[in-house]
Amino acid sequence: MVFSEVKKVVKFGGTSLANAAQFVKCAEIIKSEKSRKYVVPSAPGKRFPEDTKITDMLIKCYELSAKKEDFSGLFNDIKDRYNSIIRELSLNINLDDEYKIIEEAIQKGATLDYVASRGEYLNGLILSAYIGFPFIDAKDVVFFNEKGQFDAQKTNDVMSERLKHCENAVIPGFYGSLPDGSIKTFSRGGSDITGAIVARAVMADIYENWTDVSGFLMCDPRIVKNPRPIKVITYRELRELSYMGAGVLHEDSIFPVKLAGIPINIRNTNKPSDPGTMIVPAAEDYDTHDIVTGIAGKKGFAVIRIEKDMMNQEKGFGARVLKVFADMDMSFEHLPSGIDTMCVVIAHSEIKGKEKEILDNITKAVNPDNIEIETNLGLIAVVGRGMIRTPGTAYRIFKAVASENINVRMIDQGSSELNIIIGVDEKDFDRAIELIYLEFCN
Ligand code: ASP
Repeated sequence: MVFSEVKKVVKFGGTSLANAAQFVKCAEIIKSEKSRKYVVPSAPGKRFPEDTKITDMLIKCYELSAKKEDFSGLFNDIKDRYNSIIRELSLNINLDDEYKIIEEAIQKGATLDYVASRGEYLNGLILSAYIGFPFIDAKDVVFFNEKGQFDAQKTNDVMSERLKHCENAVIPGFYGSLPDGSIKTFSRGGSDITGAIVARAVMADIYENWTDVSGFLMCDPRIVKNPRPIKVITYRELRELSYMGAGVLHEDSIFPVKLAGIPINIRNTNKPSDPGTMIVPAAEDYDTHDIVTGIAGKKGFAVIRIEKDMMNQEKGFGARVLKVFADMDMSFEHLPSGIDTMCVVIAHSEIKGKEKEILDNITKAVNPDNIEIETNLGLIAVVGRGMIRTPGTAYRIFKAVASENINVRMIDQGSSELNIIIGVDEKDFDRAIELIYLEFCN
């Protein structure tokens, strides 16, 4: 019987490769499993909280040069950081020629994208020399079109063909090339995207994203002390949570692997034995029994409450209300409604300064009995695939917040039963999250 070989793509973030000691940890992780075949490095990040990321230093060099100011001191600091990694790892490589090319390019007015991308490029060269995997320049396998948009098809075709012939490779994150061959970067943090693209191209069994935390937490640690990590989360749950403000992976970095159904595992380079968080297309195969996967929220919402007797019998009422928002080019968040009431929940920033205009327009459109705007609303999303099979979840959420007399100003449960959103006064926001967390996680 022939077993197909397990393939993993591993991406290391900036703090994971910030200095030689971190490189050693990454190499140990890579070498501890033969399946870790393709490696995507970021540029060196912060070594301590007040430190500066190499990418930011490069961007500063670009800015100084654009103002015709001297950037050589800063550029020397960048060289020193790379050289100390090379020296401490006792590597037999010399990047002087590379530094020279980059420095001259900056002097001659190279683009910001080119300059910013060099952090990953140089780090890739060092990592390749250290672990002995061949270096593949991302400009040869990641492509953007004339409009500067990522060209997924061409990238996948060229990259999968190229990697078919490579047992192992180091491919720097964050950049690729435009049709004219010049360098183009993704948005900041874009090495996550490169990792996902490589995972899709080789049809990896798993995309490991190594960072400095042991996965996602169930809620914001600034609000709840030491929240539990999330073991398994589906792509859909992740989308709900990130939409509601949870600082998780960039949407774009999920897209390529989600498309291919490849799970992502968020891992901690500094605690490699922690299992981290698995992000999966469907969670059936994972033995988890949590009702709530995560809790996230955002402040700064307003509710426009519209009341009219017999509203439910008036055909087209809702459509006429929503047309007002479309005509004013405003997008709303939720539409909780009752028999004779309809509420439009919208980010306050969308309507600020236009409150009177919007009330007048709605009044003209549907002639309500009463209409008002309330502000200072915080929305809290309680997300969990476990809610689908568990009766009483909403009851427990309300019981938790009611225990401290917190008033729920709005409720919305998506028909998928994947989340319940409640609106509370902004002053109660943090405490409500804490109470809900404690209800489900104690
Ligand atoms: N180095 C780039 C940044 O700082 C990309 C990355 O780290 O993912 O944004």
